[in-house]
Amino acid sequence: MTTVNMLDLKAESGLFQDDVRAAIDRVLEHRRFVGGPEVEQLEQQVAALCGREFAVAVSSGTDALLSSLMTVGVRPGDEVITTPFTFFATAGVIARLGAKPVFVDIEPDTFNIDPQKVGPAVTTKTKAIVAVHLFGQCADMDALLAVADRNGGLPVIEDAAQAIGAAYRDRPAGSLGLAAAFSFYPTKNLGGFGEGGMVLTGDEAFGDRCRLMRNHGQSSGYYHEFVGGNFRLDSMKAGILLVKLAHLAQFQANRQRNAASYDRLLADVPVQTPAVRPHNKHVYHQYSILCDRRNELMAHLKEQGIGSGIYYPVPLHLQPCFADLGYKAGDLPVSESAAERILSLPIHPMLTEADVERCAAAIRRFFAATP
Ligand SMILES: *Cc1c(COP(=O)(O)O)cnc(C)c1O
Repeated sequence: MTTVNMLDLKAESGLFQDDVRAAIDRVLEHRRFVGGPEVEQLEQQVAALCGREFAVAVSSGTDALLSSLMTVGVRPGDEVITTPFTFFATAGVIARLGAKPVFVDIEPDTFNIDPQKVGPAVTTKTKAIVAVHLFGQCADMDALLAVADRNGGLPVIEDAAQAIGAAYRDRPAGSLGLAAAFSFYPTKNLGGFGEGGMVLTGDEAFGDRCRLMRNHGQSSGYYHEFVGGNFRLDSMKAGILLVKLAHLAQFQANRQRNAASYDRLLADVPVQTPAVRPHNKHVYHQYSILCDRRNELMAHLKEQGIGSGIYYPVPLHLQPCFADLGYKAGDLPVSESAAERILSLPIHPMLTEADVERCAAAIRRFFAATP
């Protein structure tokens, strides 16, 4: 049986294997294994793509978020407002700094943080807001920035790990808040051969401080201005990312074409296809539908050789590690309902029209057999 998987990194990397080998060879030549010229080039190219002036390449998306919050100055006892419907790292970094993640519920159709619910969650301890552009669609940044402004100009950090190339009212994801965190984890839209990430900002002082943060707060040889970390990126990984970055536009177009096909083929099926705000350009890191019989549908697809994924099965306010925050089931009902009903379909850039048609046909058969 032929299968349709959630990812096809083998087909993808086959496209540029020779370029990757050449990129690795260049690093073997110059041997600046950490922070070499490739790192700077990657910073320049991602900054240009996302319309930002200052870029700091780092070791992962998690470290991009962590170093951003450290640069903001998040400390023990502070509160940081964010969404519970995201990958763990978004809130994990808040807790690691001794601060308290304050979760507010999401919009039921975009799954992004609901700006209406942010204002009431602000207290005198609130230090920042982390907005996640989930699945590749920007959160409602103008509304979030307005709430932040009304509350003394709170910094808004974008978690753009899933959203490179996306846009909000013609402004690129990553150019909207004080700073933005990107991830180059292999499964992301710009995925490398290992871990990697980047911080972008339009604020020079923030960028300078974040750059030092990446290297233990070291301002010059063995003088440390403040306590940072080792958040540096390897030259080899940066060189490979530069090769892949040249394919990003094509990969993104494939994702968008496949999403449009799904939209069309699933229009009369009792599932909710992704809602895209008219002012958003969605880059479909995931194509996620809502379905009341999600687990049955997932099992049915598996029988047909079709992969699917649940992002995310447990909202963060109900994770065991956050039990001491005191949340209970029912506190954030929109996120909890999404966690029970969401299903992400294959949308990777090597997926063909025929693959999409096969997935959609399998979903249609499921509802035809047991309406
Ligand atoms: C992947 C991801 C991260 C973390 O990135 P890593 O590179 O895996 O550390 C953070 N936030 C979101 C929303 C992500 O999808």
